[in-house]
Amino acid sequence: QPSVVFDDVVFGYDRDRTILKGLSFEVPAGHHVAIVGPSGAGKSTIGRLLFRFYDPWSGRILIDGQDIAQVTQTSLRAILGIVPQDSVLFNESIGYNIGYGRDGASMADIQEAARGAALMGLIERLPAGLDTEVGERGLKLSGGEKQRVAIARTLVKNPRILLLDEATSALDTRTEQDILATLHTLAANRTSLSIAHRLSTIVDADSIIVLSEGRLAEQGSHAELLRYD
Ligand code: ADP
Ligand code: ADP
Repeated sequence: QPSVVFDDVVFGYDRDRTILKGLSFEVPAGHHVAIVGPSGAGKSTIGRLLFRFYDPWSGRILIDGQDIAQVTQTSLRAILGIVPQDSVLFNESIGYNIGYGRDGASMADIQEAARGAALMGLIERLPAGLDTEVGERGLKLSGGEKQRVAIARTLVKNPRILLLDEATSALDTRTEQDILATLHTLAANRTSLSIAHRLSTIVDADSIIVLSEGRLAEQGSHAELLRYD
């Protein structure tokens, strides 16, 4: 059963320019579907529609068979988790950034949730303890370390659907490979939609969609689409 369905979605930011021109695709439950396409094709727009920052002009977006137009922001945010390209952290402790203080959770709660979400491996690999302050006056984190915190922040909520929007594209190649390996382990069997710039970052995707001119131009396995890289 598909978890996420885009059904003939048409959308633009301005009346005179349509970005998505009847886009249809499905993300089956437990699968990892990736979207590639040239810059400006509308890849990030897909994420913005999924989070209902905007609504489609026509067509429908379904999550578990339900039109997201009928789902409250609160439930939508409980279902969806996002790892964006450049995660912005608070000038607070690592624990706070992962979840402490957000909804009255204590540091122990965060550790408990992290354990539940099998995140301890990730947390143990952070450069310092959960109570270490980061940011301007605290510990300066590298891009890769920031992304690890961002991944933990998202996964600690145990979202049913994970959206990765060029989650590693701002990193150097070695860090990127390292973070991709982490994501590969942590996101295995989770319904996920990733937006990618390069095919080399989505070798583990079950299916890859090529977005072109606001439509699905092609869909296939990594091997089938290699000629696009
Ligand atoms: P991609 O992620 O594939 O690079 P985007 O989905 O970010 O593309 O953007 C698709 C098109 O929509 C681009 O031409 C972009 O300039 C335009 N766009 C993005 N956000 C806005 C906005 N808030 N207002 C107007 N146009 C936008
Ligand atoms: P929370 O509800 O716990 O704040 P969210 O998953 O809603 O967490 O958002 C995490 C961060 O990602 C927030 O800063 C939010 O503004 C940002 N964000 C949410 N959706 C998108 C999106 N589609 N593209 C880029 N950033 C987003």
